[in-house]
Amino acid sequence: MTYRVTLIPGDGIGPEVTGAARLVAEATGLSIDWDVVEAGEPAIRKEGTPLPPAVLESVRRTRLCLKGPITTPIGSGFRSVNVALRQELDLFASVRPARAIAGEGTRFPETDLIVVREATEGLYSGVEHWVDRGHSAAESVAVVTRKACDRVIRFAFELARREHRKHVTAVHKANILKTTGGLFQAAFREIAPTYPELVADERLIDNMCMQLAKKPSEYDVLVTTNLFGDILSDLCAGLAGGLGVAPGALFGDTIAAFEPVHGSAPKYAGQDRADPVAEILCVELLLRHLGEREAADRVFRAVWETIAEKKVVTYDLALPGYTSRPVPASSCSAMAKEIARKVPLVDLSAPLPRPTGGAAGSVDPQLDV
Ligand code: NAD
Repeated sequence: MTYRVTLIPGDGIGPEVTGAARLVAEATGLSIDWDVVEAGEPAIRKEGTPLPPAVLESVRRTRLCLKGPITTPIGSGFRSVNVALRQELDLFASVRPARAIAGEGTRFPETDLIVVREATEGLYSGVEHWVDRGHSAAESVAVVTRKACDRVIRFAFELARREHRKHVTAVHKANILKTTGGLFQAAFREIAPTYPELVADERLIDNMCMQLAKKPSEYDVLVTTNLFGDILSDLCAGLAGGLGVAPGALFGDTIAAFEPVHGSAPKYAGQDRADPVAEILCVELLLRHLGEREAADRVFRAVWETIAEKKVVTYDLALPGYTSRPVPASSCSAMAKEIARKVPLVDLSAPLPRPTGGAAGSVDPQLDV
């Protein structure tokens, strides 16, 4: 069977990291027919708009999208392509796995979390205004509907069930935000008992942040509203190893799009230096979504082994701060080739290797050094 997938290379480092991801996807041996469409800077140059209609048409047709990062030009009048895609395609659930890979670049090598964020409403509904002419006061309205709460909470439980997870935690602030938070809490309390095999509990957002900073390994799947989800996703990405290794996914009722958490890193564009891991892990998520579990496991394991070995890794994974054993940095394409080479060879039944020389147990990598 051939899978048809829309590929948006994006701009900045996007073409390099999506090229890397494509190489690794092809190493799985699965037949994937890529419908390559341009958005972002190349589309502005050629068609005068960052999001030509052909992009949305392609994603609506294939219902699957692998996307590179896209620059949001400041002050140009173009709206964010990323936000536009979410809105146009009604991608209501943003999913960010935060897994510490080979124990590197993290103080919490056991971290293995998934943050599910409602992505269409809440405080990001765009309902805000100045109260007075002098702009001395402003109001922002958090729109929360039962329909949107229900669908994202159900989505989180279904994901937990599919991925053999054990525990779903709703994160809210219903003690203070009695209507918006209360609505989310009520939906969670009604839906949770319909998944009796999963442990369901709740945390207030402030307590959740403290708990995550102390013992992230005690949590499994978190589901929350838009603003809290935005913040928790980045917190969890930082706990697990940072931007270079953080993939993401967006889901609607019938469409799924996969993109890294990081942006287009314009200063590294065209230099073959960017870390391809986040985009490669987007391929892993895409394969899991397709039910290609073995291929997904192979990709994840090949990434893990490459990082644990520390022979062919990009600069951000090679430097002191990320690793306890600094090594010479390799290029984006060399690391992608190494991961692709490993994909058909890895032994899925062996225990995952730990890095030689021990993990750094360090802070988030300084991607800028
Ligand atoms: P960024 O993620 O592009 O960069 C943050 C820092 O991390 C920079 O130092 C960058 O060089 C580095 N970095 C990021 N990804 C890297 C990688 N794979 N390998 C090595 N280093 C990496 O964030 P930013 O600078 O705030 O944003 C740049 C542009 O990207 C902006 O126009 C922003 O709007 C856009 N953006 C797009 C998306 C998306 O397409 N989903 C997401 C975030 C930001």
